Amino acid sequence: MTKRDYYEILGVTRNASDAEIKKAYRQMALKFHPDKNPGNKEAEDRFKEAAEAYEVLSNPEKRSRYDQFGHEGVRNGGGGGYGGGMSMDDIFSQFGDIFGSAFGGGFSGFGGGGSRRRVNKGTNLRVKVKLSLEEIARGVEKKIKVSKLVACSTCQGTGAAGGSAFSTCSHCHGTGQVTRVTSTFLGQMQTTSTCPYCNGEGQTITNKCNTCSGSGTMKGEEVISLNIPAGVSEGIQLSVGGKGNMAPRGGIPGDLIVQIEEIPHPELVRDGTNILYEHYISFPEAALGTSIEVPTIDGKVRIKIDPGTQGGKVLRLKGKGVPSLNGYGRGDQLINISVWTPRSLSRQEQEIMENLMKSDNFRPHPGARDKSFFDRMKEYFQ
Ligand SMILES: [Zn+2]
Ligand SMILES: [Zn+2]
Repeated sequence: MTKRDYYEILGVTRNASDAEIKKAYRQMALKFHPDKNPGNKEAEDRFKEAAEAYEVLSNPEKRSRYDQFGHEGVRNGGGGGYGGGMSMDDIFSQFGDIFGSAFGGGFSGFGGGGSRRRVNKGTNLRVKVKLSLEEIARGVEKKIKVSKLVACSTCQGTGAAGGSAFSTCSHCHGTGQVTRVTSTFLGQMQTTSTCPYCNGEGQTITNKCNTCSGSGTMKGEEVISLNIPAGVSEGIQLSVGGKGNMAPRGGIPGDLIVQIEEIPHPELVRDGTNILYEHYISFPEAALGTSIEVPTIDGKVRIKIDPGTQGGKVLRLKGKGVPSLNGYGRGDQLINISVWTPRSLSRQEQEIMENLMKSDNFRPHPGARDKSFFDRMKEYFQ
């Protein structure tokens, strides 16, 4: 089984920043987390695959080796937590770094627990973008208009009417966190969680904005320009940081998640980076040779069909396929030549055919084959 491209696994572009990679991995890990998908083997595989991709792409040295040499560049000589896949323990040991306090308040152990105020993050916005095969092959800039929550224009997103309408939360004294001490058989245990009175913000509004009733957000629209790299495929998700919904009261906006959909091409079929096309020629054309015009994503191309061409021959147009998302070259267009057999014959044609049938030349025999079926299939799927 061939390994999938690490950038593709995380749904990020090749020049994604460390922060984007981390964020993409976080989303994958949350989505395919075994706790959320009990007994689901596919989710577990995706979970492991994402962890492996993140393990490489989050390490500058490994990432640069991977960029230059692909999977070969980051294969450890047998073992070492890579290659055979990471164990679940390895994966969970990354989580401290990735999730931090993202699971909400949480457990801070004995004594630790700083007084970091929580920053609200807005919800992610999801959109689908349909792309033609030509757009996928070249990469495209798309402008889309999205309806979303934006900062309230009256209060600039603070939720308060007037600048001094805040007061420090009396419950947590502005820290945004409350600490609880419970007695257990192990002794006293201290847990820290988000202050429920101020929602972790450390302050409360005494005088709410009339426009947004204190939420700090309102409905709005934005035209967002998306730079979609060449080589994306159906189902890939691109994440645009900070273009999602605005968070309540002065937080940071969520992300825009763009899901790619492919519009089927009327004649060409995409197969990874290759493009498949079937072309029928007539039986006399196969015997005498001809030249045919075939569509490609770069326009029409004329190609020569040699005399004596067999049905099922595959012609290859080098470099006329789709670029790979990771930037390594471009696939080919494969043209399968089929020979059209007439479905009805005039009396005269019938006579000609009956005469031809008597000729030894027209009888297929094993020695007359250009290539075996097996060789052709190998070429086709290589
Ligand atoms: Zn407002
Ligand atoms: Zn509070």
